[in-house]
Amino acid sequence: MRVICAHCGREFPWEATRFRCDCGGPLEVAGAPAFDPAQVDPGDFTLWRYRHALPMPKDARPVTLGEGMTPLVEAEWDGLRLRFKCESLNPTGSFKDRGTAVLVTALAAAGAESVVEDSSGNAGSSLAAYAARAGLRATIYVPAHASPAKKAQISAYGAQLVSVPGPRAAAAEAVLEAASKGAIYASHVYHPLIHHGMKTVAFELWEQLGRRAPDAVVLPVGHGSLLLGLAMGFGELLAAGCIRRVPRFYGVQAAACAPLAAAWERGAEEPEPVSEGETVAEGVRIAAPVRGREILAAVRASGGALVAVPDEETLRARERLAHRGFYIEPTSAVAVAALDRLRERLTGTVVAILTGNGLKHSG
Ligand SMILES: [Zn+2]
Repeated sequence: MRVICAHCGREFPWEATRFRCDCGGPLEVAGAPAFDPAQVDPGDFTLWRYRHALPMPKDARPVTLGEGMTPLVEAEWDGLRLRFKCESLNPTGSFKDRGTAVLVTALAAAGAESVVEDSSGNAGSSLAAYAARAGLRATIYVPAHASPAKKAQISAYGAQLVSVPGPRAAAAEAVLEAASKGAIYASHVYHPLIHHGMKTVAFELWEQLGRRAPDAVVLPVGHGSLLLGLAMGFGELLAAGCIRRVPRFYGVQAAACAPLAAAWERGAEEPEPVSEGETVAEGVRIAAPVRGREILAAVRASGGALVAVPDEETLRARERLAHRGFYIEPTSAVAVAALDRLRERLTGTVVAILTGNGLKHSG
């Protein structure tokens, strides 16, 4: 397996310790396998039914907790007909499990014995669980302000939890320091295999909708791994002749920390870092998204948009959604809160992705 820098184009053989280019740029897998509908394994009810389309070291054995194949549930929101993709029902309660399963499978196959990650909670819980499943030691750097429920979940899996005071970015700096000393950084932000795990959401939506694409997908965006994964997955479906066009992506941020929505407003190709404001949507509290340029380009190419919603609307949407039987964390509720302001543009088959479980958030 080889990887290529998204910024400078330099190519490297993939190694467990390489999570980014020497220039600092994020990596993509070079020559990843193509999606082929004939090779979907109909007897496997996890994301590994798409194994043929996942780049992997040879002879890798899946590290799995049964992730993927989450329900797609029909619903209605103030007269808008849509479907919720319940990623909150993955093994650790968030969509992150898709990327983690694929990444930990590759790292375990490469002989890794320990991994580190920085996280506001969900990626950390996910890595802690899959590391436990694979028999790897995990150390997770978490901002001190992360939800107590998420910190408890990380510790419960047996991972070492390092609580880092200050903004979310301080935890990112702490893990980069550990990586510079040789730790294997299982990064949800940098590592290119994460997006290949996330792209399986697109394949599932295609199957669950009767082998067609939705017209619009609404989802929260922080570092954008899910959005970039969806763009990759629908791109592969398009290339395979399975769909006629990629859905419009509507990425939603929290108004207190919305570098991508601000760049979208300006028509910019790259986000400017913003100050990291307080928000209930801790999972998308990302002031400087590493793949910001790629996210803006993917949304633009799809004909979608990036928007931001204030916390009051997020909390109201979370409560109203719970009153309809869907219990999700505030970070996920930003996507639902945006449905009202996006309503005019949400035509055809609409999917909103519920990314994280309400049980993960105390209060
Ligand atoms: Zn580079």
